[in-house]
Amino acid sequence: MTKITYSIIAPIYNEIEIIDEFCKRIKMVMDTTSEAWELILVNDGSTDGSTERIRELASSSEQIRAVIFARNFGHQIAVTAGLDYARGESVTIIDADLQDPPEVVLDLIEKWKEGYQVVYAVRSEREGESWFKKFTASLFYRIIYKITDVEIPLDTGDFRLLDRKVVDVMNSMREKHRFLRGMSSWIGYKQIGVEYKRAARFAGETKYPFKKMLKLALNAITGFSYFPLQVASYFGFASAGLAIIAIPVVAIMRMTGSHFFEGQTTTLISVLFLGGVQLISLGILGEYIGRLYDEAKGRPLYIVSEAPED
Ligand code: UDP
Ligand code: MG
Repeated sequence: MTKITYSIIAPIYNEIEIIDEFCKRIKMVMDTTSEAWELILVNDGSTDGSTERIRELASSSEQIRAVIFARNFGHQIAVTAGLDYARGESVTIIDADLQDPPEVVLDLIEKWKEGYQVVYAVRSEREGESWFKKFTASLFYRIIYKITDVEIPLDTGDFRLLDRKVVDVMNSMREKHRFLRGMSSWIGYKQIGVEYKRAARFAGETKYPFKKMLKLALNAITGFSYFPLQVASYFGFASAGLAIIAIPVVAIMRMTGSHFFEGQTTTLISVLFLGGVQLISLGILGEYIGRLYDEAKGRPLYIVSEAPED
């Protein structure tokens, strides 16, 4: 078997209008490299006929391989499966909706040839997305950047090229709640960014509604930071400190005849406030414990119903 230089991974969830165009564009770009390449389409439980189309494409082309999931497992898990099945010396993760222009893959490859092991694509502009999406995405990247222990580059998605060495390390990290761009930053080696203009979706709607984005954000934060757990102790110290100051102040005011702190309002407000803070802290604890529980169960990350033939 010939050695494959470039693997391209694309997760697909209900993208029937896009698949053909995507494969065509990838083929056009990759054929210019005159080296062996493969395209791995990971079908993440599509229900719109994408599955059948992917099957057809895989059987009619030598370069296309299909991994078909038993159900929808989510984008990050689909990409993980792609990494598991990829055989190339370099592996590029790309969205199937053509928001990440396939032509940019050549720029990523160029940097890889210069000796970088992780080449991530940085969005200098985003087209055709709502202000809400852009705003939440921008806020998300900045919060993650501030509170996590690894340096995750700003405005960078999963569109990136990874060297075989990095892929092997990634494949050994089997954590259940995955934030791949954080994981690949965490690994280290020589990393560099390449700017590109993120295009509008070729067709169809985003498959990342707010709920899924929130889940990804929580995975990113809990996966790479203890900060939320520590916030409870900061609040504890602050309110205990406040109480220590308040006790003598109120005692003195009472003795001097002031009626300022009498009545239920102040009591009610402080009980509600502290109750709220405690419940939020419990919820944060719950987020981490739930993740621990998932790790303890040790279930497989995904179930494949059809694996590539070769
Ligand atoms: N995707 C997936 N599983 C999901 C959601 C999305 O495999 O549960 C794929 C989707 O088909 C696309 C890529 O992940 O190829 C990125 O999704 P999308 O374009 O909807 O996200 P956005 O660009 O809007 O953030
Ligand atoms: Mg998209």
